[in-house]
Amino acid sequence: MGKRAREEEPQPADSFERLIRELERLPGIGRRSAERIAYHVLAASTEEAMALAVAVRDVKRNLHPCAVCGDLTEKERCAICDDPRREADTICVVEWPREVRAIEKSGAFHGRYHVLMGRLSPLAGVEPEDLRIGALLERVKGGEIREIVLATSPTVEGDATAAYLTRRLHEGLPGITITRLARGLPAGSDLSFAQAGTIGEALKGRKEAK
Ligand SMILES: [Zn+2]
Repeated sequence: MGKRAREEEPQPADSFERLIRELERLPGIGRRSAERIAYHVLAASTEEAMALAVAVRDVKRNLHPCAVCGDLTEKERCAICDDPRREADTICVVEWPREVRAIEKSGAFHGRYHVLMGRLSPLAGVEPEDLRIGALLERVKGGEIREIVLATSPTVEGDATAAYLTRRLHEGLPGITITRLARGLPAGSDLSFAQAGTIGEALKGRKEAK
């Protein structure tokens, strides 16, 4: 049975059932897991249970995109964009903030990031203007950048996005080196599912994109 839109769904009367329904909406959580978590919350102290509720509230209230790279931050600029020790001439382009986390875990990248907030997908109606591509081109025109590492996902759409970006970047900025992560990442998934070591290898083996 598919999950219906929130508006159409009759509201269950009791709070316990409502909690189960909310948990069931989370990725990877079925009815049984949702019930198990709901019983856990019920058994927890008020303080513990409220800490979860407050963490959920704060993440929605406080996080917003970094003014430079688009990663999520609580300040105007994220910690990586603000860190003078990061190489300012290398930008790694990823699809989602979770991939910044994954690459940071590998410890193999010392430049800065640019988050597209998705990948091109004509079937799903995602066009270049729906992504943070204009912001990337503007940023690169600033002149400081020497290399752009395209770390879009190893999927058909991720590859198409990388090819599109390569073309656009070469057009406007012929002096910049554009590289793509080496193969070896699990195909068809996104970077955040890869092991830190695998991401490190893919970064080291990156090749110039033509
Ligand atoms: Zn940033």
